[in-house]
Amino acid sequence: MKQIKELISIIVPCYNEEDSLPIFYEEITKIAKEMKNQDFEFLFINDGSKDNTLTILKDLARKDERVRFISFSRNFGKEGGMYAGLENATGDYVAIMDADMQDPPSMIKTMYHDITKEGFDCVALYSPSHKGYGIIRKIFTNCWYKLIGLISSTSQVPGARDFRLMKRKMVDAIVNMREYNRYSKGIFSFVGFNTKWIEYEAPDRAAGTSKFNFWKLFKYALEGILAFSTTPLVLAAIIGLIFCLIAFIAIIVIIVKTLILGDPVGGWPSLACMIMFVSGVQLFFLGIFGMYMSKLYLEVKKRPIYISSETEKNVREDKKEEKND
Ligand code: UDP
Ligand code: MG
Repeated sequence: MKQIKELISIIVPCYNEEDSLPIFYEEITKIAKEMKNQDFEFLFINDGSKDNTLTILKDLARKDERVRFISFSRNFGKEGGMYAGLENATGDYVAIMDADMQDPPSMIKTMYHDITKEGFDCVALYSPSHKGYGIIRKIFTNCWYKLIGLISSTSQVPGARDFRLMKRKMVDAIVNMREYNRYSKGIFSFVGFNTKWIEYEAPDRAAGTSKFNFWKLFKYALEGILAFSTTPLVLAAIIGLIFCLIAFIAIIVIIVKTLILGDPVGGWPSLACMIMFVSGVQLFFLGIFGMYMSKLYLEVKKRPIYISSETEKNVREDKKEEKND
């Protein structure tokens, strides 16, 4: 009797990865060959690439049955790519990996071993050294992890990557979280499950350039705070209360000074500075409320997280038609 093998799905979000994809495919298929007792499915997500990524994926899907792809109608971002992958992967185990070889395919063997033999639900990787980051990005990253640790109850491992292998039950739990403003590192932590963390040093990109510039990363960091902490709102209330108390005390002091000492009210420059300071603080917190409101607005609209334009099925149907002709 033929033994049914376990299926491992490898999800790979790709945005302009024409240079990295051939290297990645060669490496991952090598690993799949070595893991004889498991079947593989490679699910590539073409996130609106403007280069030849889609052409390469179509070629791979034509020659390798294990290759699947979902091509988006435009660039939706890596978060949308990961969600599409998780929603469509069919494996008993599902891994998320970058296409640029910063998540080495060879690690899959160790991860699979740990998840099956050591009883974990998920094996995740973290790279705390932040090799390759500039000094400013390193400082911001370290400060961000300290801040999120302070203000969020969902724990975040410093240097955590999206690279992980999960059991089906964890994948189902994540797919059930259909929120539009996605911050997957928080979502992975939120759903819980028994996770083993492995430290490694992420190597440099095999080819191409990073798709995350400083501004994109800043917005991503902000997303993490807005999605997993409401502390800024509490802070606004506390600071507002403190200012009210100070104002109340100041009013009493001024009344007492005027009535008892007959001191005329003076100090216009200091008053002007105080008005500016207080209105600045008010505007700042109004901005924070606005950010939460805008997230709420987008969430309520229930827009799709991604829109698929074509998949490997289109390519395989074309192939069938060619044969029939
Ligand atoms: N990526 C994506 N959509 C985007 C940006 C990036 O699917 O809008 C993919 C990219 O192709 C890569 C992974 O996400 O496979 C990580 O991106 P990158 O290597 O540029 O980020 P970095 O490692 O520099 O943080
Ligand atoms: Mg990378």
